[in-house]
Amino acid sequence: MYESLVNFVDYCNCITIVASRVNELRERRTLDDEGIRELLESDDESLAEELFRHAREVAVGQFGPVVWLRALIEWSNVCRNDCYYCGIRRSNRALPRYSLTRDEILSCCDQAWRLGLRTFVLQGGENPPAAEKLAETVAEMRASWPEAAISLSLGELPGETYALLRRSGANRYLLRHETAKPALYARLHPAGMRLENRLACLHHLRALGFKTGMGMMVGSPYQTTDDLIADIRLMEEFRPEMIGLGPFIPQHDTPFRDIPAGSASTTLRLYAILRLMLPQAWIPATTALATLRPDGRTAGILAGANVIMPNFTPASRRSAYALYEGKARPGAEAAETLNQLKQELDTIGYHV
Ligand code: SF4
Repeated sequence: MYESLVNFVDYCNCITIVASRVNELRERRTLDDEGIRELLESDDESLAEELFRHAREVAVGQFGPVVWLRALIEWSNVCRNDCYYCGIRRSNRALPRYSLTRDEILSCCDQAWRLGLRTFVLQGGENPPAAEKLAETVAEMRASWPEAAISLSLGELPGETYALLRRSGANRYLLRHETAKPALYARLHPAGMRLENRLACLHHLRALGFKTGMGMMVGSPYQTTDDLIADIRLMEEFRPEMIGLGPFIPQHDTPFRDIPAGSASTTLRLYAILRLMLPQAWIPATTALATLRPDGRTAGILAGANVIMPNFTPASRRSAYALYEGKARPGAEAAETLNQLKQELDTIGYHV
């Protein structure tokens, strides 16, 4: 009896401490490492809900109950790299390779614009010569839709190619850093890929005037809570305008095929923590999260995310953009189900 009472008091004290961490994070927009660890690792779901509530309030205070839609166009699955976690890595011979033509890209943009989307996101493997050529299409996109935001995610490119893409009219660039720790970076990527190059690219992109995004997988192989705290510190310092993060999901043609997926709960907590640290950031509720749990998009919005990226890639190509297992499924991601997505958001009190 006495022992259970002591346990109960310890439990209450623990809850109180963690709840005060949430308040401190919201008020000061930062928190010490131990506080972040508690928010990431606490197994009390009611505390996670409290964290999400605060993040949601901050997001709604910044943007209103609004979710921003970005039209995702997976323009090519050709990549020169061999990242161990990625389904479109160079060594995956099982994958049919494609690159969308100029006409296909413009057609995707046209469809998205007609449906009311005002941001186009061109995402693809790292392929510098193709990226240079893509600048011509970006210039056409800019001429056809002067008011649209054009966001790119094409990996590490030469500085002159970034500059060309910027001059052609692109104004946002997402380059996930994947981890702030060089040692972990080396376990996720083959020799020759270096974290310092990636960070130099991010600084260069920002200097060129791109709104810049970074982020990482959650629960990637070998990742610890300390690694996630280092990621948070890196983003706290760099202050990206966009944050792209989702759970690691294994893909069957990669060396990490047998490693379990990352945690949806930890991903949601990171959305919330980063919302409280960087209230103005664009944080997508990612496709990877929606792959892991069916309500991933709305759960992400309720944890402080404020962006969803419906997929406008032609349906015939989507299965070949197999970054991870289960991704290329139809459903709320597809443009044709945009209305369904709006209804889902309506049920939680948000609109686009
Ligand atoms: S993560 Fe990016 S750079 Fe790495 S293999 Fe995949 S597409 Fe290429």
